[in-house]
Amino acid sequence: MNRISILLSDIIRGQNTLHYLRKFERLSGASHEEAEAYRMERLRELLVHCERNVPFYNNRFRECGFSAREFSSPDQLKMIPPLTRQDLQDHWHEIVAANYRDRKLSAGSSGGSTGQPVFYRKDSRATSAGQAAHLLGWSLSGWKMSMKGLHIWGNPTTVNEEWGRISSRLKARIYRHHKFPAYTLHDGSRLRDLYDMICRERYDFIDGYTNAIYHFAEYLKSNNLSFSRPLKYVLTTAENLHDFQRKAIEDVIAPVYDTYGCSEINSIAYECCKCGLYHVIDPHVFVEYGEALDEFGNRELYVTDLDNFAFPMLRYRNGDLAIPAEGDVPDCPLSFSRLKAISGRETDMITLPDGGMLSVPSFFGSMLLKKVNGLKQYQVEKVSENMLHINLVTNERFTPADLDTIESALGEYLNGRIGYLIRTVDSIDISKSGKFRLVIDRTRQ
Ligand SMILES: [Zn+2]
Repeated sequence: MNRISILLSDIIRGQNTLHYLRKFERLSGASHEEAEAYRMERLRELLVHCERNVPFYNNRFRECGFSAREFSSPDQLKMIPPLTRQDLQDHWHEIVAANYRDRKLSAGSSGGSTGQPVFYRKDSRATSAGQAAHLLGWSLSGWKMSMKGLHIWGNPTTVNEEWGRISSRLKARIYRHHKFPAYTLHDGSRLRDLYDMICRERYDFIDGYTNAIYHFAEYLKSNNLSFSRPLKYVLTTAENLHDFQRKAIEDVIAPVYDTYGCSEINSIAYECCKCGLYHVIDPHVFVEYGEALDEFGNRELYVTDLDNFAFPMLRYRNGDLAIPAEGDVPDCPLSFSRLKAISGRETDMITLPDGGMLSVPSFFGSMLLKKVNGLKQYQVEKVSENMLHINLVTNERFTPADLDTIESALGEYLNGRIGYLIRTVDSIDISKSGKFRLVIDRTRQ
């Protein structure tokens, strides 16, 4: 990848990633005052736009007594109730800005770590800024555009439907960023294929699902495999990175840098090789924290996307928890704000009878959810060594065809390796801790 390839991709896709990348890079080197002035201006512009053009926020501001025109300090944002996943489920059509309704918007959905599907929209500006923030975030680990990488990602639907497209294959070639399907890694032969591919292609880095890469590292270790040309980095994302996983990956592959975002708001925070903490990409997102929930200092995250005017997300409570960096923290030349840890996305893995692993969020990925109507919530319950219960809470829009879609996708994914029963239930209980659990393993209780 280089700047010319980004420009080419921008022209082909009608985006302006390069423009945002230059802007974010400049702000990363600017004084704290200048960077803050940019953020405040952006926030003010977004809030005024919400008040004028977004029915959902117009109502909400009136109800809570917030006035966008009188906005002068980030503290005033606290008047606005956080945007919840429930809000996105029930009111997403009122969140589309009136002056963007006739424009081309891309539709997205996410199951996230909460098992509660949500729907959102983005215009090309939001997508471009998200990508630019991502490139800047990756560079904090020492990653450079000239490096060649392998992306370990995807459920069967993404792999079969998206990766085969000419545009996707062309992009992989232009960016020198190849792809490997994460969901196939529980199969021993594919682990060997992945190892062979990395040796053959001489990648500089790999990135992708934390659990898939961890599983691969365990395989390398137990088979005494190593790389004659070591990788420079491993970039993990989408699932919580535990210390034991970081250690296992670093022992056999390369230093790990974790990255954090969600599909509704891309590119939120990235681990930095200089200070060892996560930096929030401040010019792109405004991050706030709720009250401390436990003795570790975990807090709810409220994230505002400063670049999505088509579908504004103000103070979005996405269900993740984080520990902000406060008190005694190492110096860093980069002034962007910092996080100590992302702690909300527990690994939602199920062990199969043949020793393989099933990553539930990667199966119920956005591609499957986009095809199914009326699914409100899901939970996977392992009731015995050989049996899963897939519990679904549905609404009136859910049809027998939707059930067939889930049934056939599950059949393809599990491929007879574990039994399953799909059940429609009235509701799914919240755990004792108050947090929704996507996966319940009854065999361990
Ligand atoms: Zn740093």
